[in-house]
Amino acid sequence: MSSILLAGGAGYIGSHTAVELLLRDKDVIIVDNFSNSNPNVIERIERLASKRVKFYELDTRTSEFEIVFKENEIDVVVDFAAYKAVGDSVKEPLSYYENNLCSLINTLKLMKKYNVNKFVFSSSATVYGDVKVDMLPAREDYPRCATNPYGNTKLIGEEIISDIGNADDNFNSIVLRYFNPIGAHQSGLLGEQTNGVPANIMPYLTKVAIGELPFLNIFGDDYDTEDGTGIRDYIHVVDLAIGHVKAIERLLKVNNGVEFFNLGTGKGYSVMELVRAFSRASQMEIPYKIVERRDGDVAMSYADPSKAKEVLNWEASLGIDEMCRDSWNWQSKNPNGYDD
Ligand code: NAD
Ligand code: UDP
Repeated sequence: MSSILLAGGAGYIGSHTAVELLLRDKDVIIVDNFSNSNPNVIERIERLASKRVKFYELDTRTSEFEIVFKENEIDVVVDFAAYKAVGDSVKEPLSYYENNLCSLINTLKLMKKYNVNKFVFSSSATVYGDVKVDMLPAREDYPRCATNPYGNTKLIGEEIISDIGNADDNFNSIVLRYFNPIGAHQSGLLGEQTNGVPANIMPYLTKVAIGELPFLNIFGDDYDTEDGTGIRDYIHVVDLAIGHVKAIERLLKVNNGVEFFNLGTGKGYSVMELVRAFSRASQMEIPYKIVERRDGDVAMSYADPSKAKEVLNWEASLGIDEMCRDSWNWQSKNPNGYDD
């Protein structure tokens, strides 16, 4: 029986994608080394989908990963396996290049060896760098430029995939550039687990809301935006997961080489707007302080999602209120994440 392999599938986006695939009767294999996830997620995925998942605890950089290709007939590989914290990547560049690129290369080598030629890659809006405001929304054909080692791993990853596409007519890949995923599964059973102090805004906000952190630091209110705070295109993780389903369906239908798609809503919200939406959803006032801008942050980032709508027949359906509601539902039901 053929199936979809999710490398890094126990993580935040992978776990939500696994559920959406299982609900559509796909067979799912998850490979993860739990470097940034928790084994308890597997049982929750199975509970939500009422279906079993084949699971391997493995590092995708290692030779042991080959067993997955030996034991299964795989139609499509989706590669989520990577480290993702921008700040850590500046401090530990080598470990980021090593993990994100060695795992990608090993995965692609095994795919070639076992004649698996359909690949979905998790890329990021970070590859657009600091797009001039009058050039927004960001389109897939814009020039790319990374501003930190993490972004470089995504940019180099995209290059590797393009080069393989150029060299091999049978290789088909969809590269998905995610904007800012937040939210959680509506059930409250799946969400984003962070270890230590969160770097991203939504997990930070939810930890302030449960009293684990005293206040939110807002990084700058002197940007050239309406209220001076940074603007991002937040996207509900379940919408993002469905974007993967659509990408897989396309790969199973057409051989179109390597294609790139933005996954965003197309609408930007400022930090202040997000804080207000979160306060509405949680019925709580969120204490905050305005602090210095964070190094490397851009003022505004939002997607032109029209290519994904036209070609993949995908568009985001959940808005900022649902994103905040579901993030809060996850955090309040699971104050210790998957350890609860
Ligand atoms: P995550 O950390 O929750 O998930 C990644 C998973 O990969 C984790 O379960 C981790 O244990 C696993 N992993 C890492 N290295 C591995 C290895 N060598 N072998 C096996 N497993 C390994 O992150 P996420 O938010 O689900 O992100 C998934 C992908 O999307 C990543 O590639 C990330 O860079 C990319 N991305 C994420 C965001 C975001 O804001 N969450 C935005 C843009 C792109
Ligand atoms: N941000 C903030 N306080 C935080 C974390 C983030 O004000 O503790 C702001 C950040 O400056 C940016 C937005 O929130 O404008 C989204 O940041 P995040 O780190 O979540 O995602 P990024 O867009 O940097 O990948």
